[in-house]
Amino acid sequence: MKKTAYVTKEKAEEIASVFPTPYLLYDEKGIRQNLSAINEAFAWNRGFREYFAVKANPNPFLLKIMKENGCGLDCSSYTELMLAEQLGFSGERIMFSSNDTPAEEYEYAYRLNGTINLDDITHIDFLEGILGGRELPETMSCRFNPGGLFEMSNGIMDNPGDSKYGMTKEQIREAFRRLKDKGVKHFGIHAFLASNTVTNDYYPELAGILFGLARELSESLNVHISFINLSGGVGIPYRPEQEPNDILAIGRGVEKKYKEILEPAGMGDVAIYTEMGRFVTGPYGALVTRAIHEKHIYKEYIGCDACAVHLMRPAMYGAYHHITVLGKEDEPCDYKYDVTGSLCENNDKFAVDRMLPKIEKGDLLFIHDAGAHGYSMGYNYNGKLKCAEILLKEDGSFELIRRAETPKDYFSTFDCFPEYAGLAK
Ligand SMILES: *Cc1c(COP(=O)(O)O)cnc(C)c1O
Repeated sequence: MKKTAYVTKEKAEEIASVFPTPYLLYDEKGIRQNLSAINEAFAWNRGFREYFAVKANPNPFLLKIMKENGCGLDCSSYTELMLAEQLGFSGERIMFSSNDTPAEEYEYAYRLNGTINLDDITHIDFLEGILGGRELPETMSCRFNPGGLFEMSNGIMDNPGDSKYGMTKEQIREAFRRLKDKGVKHFGIHAFLASNTVTNDYYPELAGILFGLARELSESLNVHISFINLSGGVGIPYRPEQEPNDILAIGRGVEKKYKEILEPAGMGDVAIYTEMGRFVTGPYGALVTRAIHEKHIYKEYIGCDACAVHLMRPAMYGAYHHITVLGKEDEPCDYKYDVTGSLCENNDKFAVDRMLPKIEKGDLLFIHDAGAHGYSMGYNYNGKLKCAEILLKEDGSFELIRRAETPKDYFSTFDCFPEYAGLAK
């Protein structure tokens, strides 16, 4: 599918005249339409809820949009729980899917009445130790890892046997048995088996596995399974030649498995939960950066004012992010460039050997699909500062939703040392 930018060069320049590049720009209309489509796709399931994975994009202004659309939040750290509390998410709208979890984070999730999703069987004792006599929550969830290879008929595969998450089948059975003995009344099952799947079959296939397990555990242990959490993993087409996922088809695929496996077992009250991050905001965020240098050595380079600090996926995973040169949408792509950031790291390249229109210094580049795992993954290497985040509204107006960092932010953790406190001022 042809990838197009959701701003014109004129609009991007107008924004840049107020908030200098680089900046991350979010498309509010796109996010809202997508959330509606997700809710519609699972409307057949009475208890359905998307728990947006905060790690994908922890901006409170965006999390507020999630809240308005009925979503909960999937948190996995102390600060993510703080966001949920600050934004007024009630306990039933907080999923705590962490791993290698520190005690104070379990304590906080418990205090907020969030649903705790245990990553390991040993965490039952760990949690009880923290609670020190207080009762376990009535509803608890466990994360399942089937081990081995997860392979789908279309060739997509991942390697759960090599992943640190979740419990084996024997462990999850034992965990449910013990939790039931300790008074837990309602159970959830969670699993995340493959990342960034661009196929309508992933959720239905995962649902088939988890519904089968739910039925087995419900029958053999006589426990009430109240929800199945399909977690994240629904991907987006980073490349123009990829066919985007159809969330309505995905919802129908899960419904079919539900009717086949759960309903005949009298389990028609099981709620479906999802914890999508990438699919919800990924395509509706872009990094807008200006070309500030061109360099001709053994290859042609365009240097821009953004770097991996603002979008790390290309440097970290060699990930493809499509680039539109604003104002040159219809020009032929007959120049081959490496598009680079300024880090002293040769992998700081947004594109390698990319065919693009001829780029002049001053051109604005729109780097697509930076709305999830973009800002949140960034770091401060080379002392580079993180950029502003801006929300483009449905009426074309725009609003700053996080200011750019300043040197003061970078040095703020020296504020307790008198000899360096000046840097933090
Ligand atoms: C990362 C993560 C998600 C979100 O994954 P996406 O691929 O962004 O949808 C959901 N749940 C858990 C537990 C995760 O770790």
